Amino acid sequence: MAEQFEIDVDALRERYRIEMEKRIRPDGNQQYKELKGEYAEFDEDPYTPRVEREPLTTSTEVLIVGGGFAGMLTGVNLAKLGITDFTIVEKAGDFGGTWYWNRYPGCMCDVESYTYLPLLEETGYMPTERYASATEIFEYCKLLGRHFDLYPHALFQTVITGAEWDDDARRWTVTTDRGDTITAHFVVVAGGILHKAKLPGIPGIERFEGHAFHTSRWDYDVTGGSPTTPMDRLADKRVGIIGTGATAVQAVPQLARTAKELYVFQRTPSAVGVRNQAPTDVEWFKSLQPGWQEERIRNFTESVTGVKPAVNLVDDGWTEVMWENTQKLPESEDEAAALELSDFLTMEAIRRRVDDIVEDPETAEKLKPYWAKNCKRVCFHDDYLPAFNRPNVHLVDTDGKGVQQITEKGVVVDGVEYPVDVLVFASGFEVNTDLDQRVGFDPVGRGGQAMSERWAEGARTLHGVLQGDFPNLMLISLVQAGFGTNFVHFLSGSAAHCAAIVATCRDQGIDTIEATSEAEEDWLMVLYGAAGGPAGYVQHCTPGFYNSERQEPDAKAARNLVYAGSVIDYLGHLERWRAQGDLAGTKIVKAGDPA
Ligand code: NDP
Repeated sequence: MAEQFEIDVDALRERYRIEMEKRIRPDGNQQYKELKGEYAEFDEDPYTPRVEREPLTTSTEVLIVGGGFAGMLTGVNLAKLGITDFTIVEKAGDFGGTWYWNRYPGCMCDVESYTYLPLLEETGYMPTERYASATEIFEYCKLLGRHFDLYPHALFQTVITGAEWDDDARRWTVTTDRGDTITAHFVVVAGGILHKAKLPGIPGIERFEGHAFHTSRWDYDVTGGSPTTPMDRLADKRVGIIGTGATAVQAVPQLARTAKELYVFQRTPSAVGVRNQAPTDVEWFKSLQPGWQEERIRNFTESVTGVKPAVNLVDDGWTEVMWENTQKLPESEDEAAALELSDFLTMEAIRRRVDDIVEDPETAEKLKPYWAKNCKRVCFHDDYLPAFNRPNVHLVDTDGKGVQQITEKGVVVDGVEYPVDVLVFASGFEVNTDLDQRVGFDPVGRGGQAMSERWAEGARTLHGVLQGDFPNLMLISLVQAGFGTNFVHFLSGSAAHCAAIVATCRDQGIDTIEATSEAEEDWLMVLYGAAGGPAGYVQHCTPGFYNSERQEPDAKAARNLVYAGSVIDYLGHLERWRAQGDLAGTKIVKAGDPA
């Protein structure tokens, strides 16, 4: 699908290399600051006032950590299988996960709503637009909560502080920051994918005296307005935004419209393709036949992973850009050259779009991404690039070096201080840090061993879900598990898998289930088998969370992989394992049996 242009392959290869090398830093992932200690206030919930309550001492069959899509869908699947004794523990004040926290102006999902929002056929909900706003998605999460009666199961504003396996009782003892003690037969950890915000490690960051916040904790008291109304307190304010990833691409147009002056501090330009937002065609939506959503979800994932289905049902920017899987392992030199050319051409079209839209040639040049299309998440937006034509918007490009310093008054780049009143950190989320750091507690399994100790040399799991010595604990995370453009495709399949394991245990009288070490090693081999193409590809990528900021790989990193093939292939492993029916690769103990 890539357009044909005259390009100089050697020159582009060299340009990509230069841009990549400029950005390599010895501190890799360590460059970012965790939101704790002096930065803990950046993590506070600005949306729901805290409600005090008495500590609980209770028990539940399944304790689900996290009330985002993964946690909610685990609950929905459990209920469908007749398991209604479950508790969803969530630190936020409502369901929604990412869509609870991210309320920044312009926030929306860049994956088509008809494939992204789960269970549309069951709820009967019709998204209002092709790409749903965050506000609509958050409302939909609440609708899911009501439709599937999840609210009575929820414990909001509650943070898990510990989970310890009791081998005699064959139960988990879970504690929370509210003083609760909850005994659970099964624990499903369904949090921790992109939920822990991080700050850029810029010298002086703590000195800034104006208003500063992370995009996932937007301070509308400072900016005025709301996710659906213009920010009416910025007309006399100078605003700085650090970061130009998928979040900033959506927030910048809104800030540009409302701020007196907007300074966009850029380290690496995003690739920004055509969005083509549109209201939902009601007649088309009504004409969809039962089973349409599953088919569409699958068709979308196929269309962005090189499967090239006969019909491209979604046919949008994503499917156009990702139609050719340029990170597949080539079978010949000719194929390698063709894949590289296709990638160059796709990105060249994106670069030429910048020239077509941005009037000042110098600014346009700085906004062009010189990296291959799978190195970072490609963005789609029709208002981001035009924002740079406004006289109040200033691109401050750091030529790959990042912001030099933050002072009491503003942001310093190349020795020049840019004074700002409001500073927005669009600096993303922890992805490659240890899972226990991201979920906020370190489960303790059999024999008092913490998961961080068991994973000291890297993760050990079957399918990224079960592991040895941590009976009845299931994980839904990126570690040794799937990853894809449509995250909810992965989360839905994983939630169904965890619920099915619990139901199987109930049906077969199984008290505990855990992975065997052999199965964990076999799964690692499957992960390695799928990693071939992408592993080679990302080696040439500019730093980012897709390649752990190009940190030198250690033993741990060698095991902390994602399943690099398509989500469909990953979920296929889970589905075949379940269909086989023998719980292969697990050690089980039946109720009443000795361990
Ligand atoms: P990202 O991690 O993608 O972006 C962080 C930005 O901060 C990058 O531009 C980074 O530059 C920049 N940065 C970091 N340190 C510095 C520094 N010292 N000086 C200057 N700039 C710096 O975070 P996002 O929140 O944008 O997106 C994270 C993910 O969230 C996305 O990949 C996507 O998966 C998800 N998302 C999805 C959306 C959707 O529509 N589905 C919308 C928004 C987010 P550099 O690139 O050089 O590292």
